[in-house]
Amino acid sequence: MSQSPTQSASAGCIFCRIVRGEAPAHVVYEDEHVMAFLDIHPLVEGHTMVIPKGHYETLEAVPPELVGKVFEGVRKVSEAMRRALRAEATTIGINNGRAAGQVVPHLHVHILPRYAGDGGGTIHSIIHRPANKSLEEVQKLLQGSL
Ligand code: AMP
Ligand code: ZN
Repeated sequence: MSQSPTQSASAGCIFCRIVRGEAPAHVVYEDEHVMAFLDIHPLVEGHTMVIPKGHYETLEAVPPELVGKVFEGVRKVSEAMRRALRAEATTIGINNGRAAGQVVPHLHVHILPRYAGDGGGTIHSIIHRPANKSLEEVQKLLQGSL
């Protein structure tokens, strides 16, 4: 279920402070709904984050009509990386919740420019745990909830 941006949480949120112009950032793109700025501790040159301007902690909290706007911001930044940074590819990811490693509780999409032979991993290197349930069991669980 979508929610309104949470006012109290946003007051001390570093990304909300950037949106309000109260904290500095190297902004690369901004429109009515979305902002993109460089990660202050880049994993690679060009590491950028795209955020909704409203304060939503996780992807599930973002109103459905805003999700596409955030992803369009991601697409734009990814395209700019290919053009301006000569990126051959990009890795796009969200630490979507604390258990996934999210530190800043304001949804942000990481975009990393990638190059053949850059030594980086893939989404498959994030976690490896053997499954207890069969694919059919998992399918039923998820289908039943969608
Ligand atoms: P995570 O919540 O684990 O996805 O990571 C938060 C990311 O935000 C990290 O990569 C930080 O380097 C980055 N970050 C934290 N504070 C700032 C800031 N003021 N400006 C830009 N990036 C930041
Ligand atoms: Zn925020």
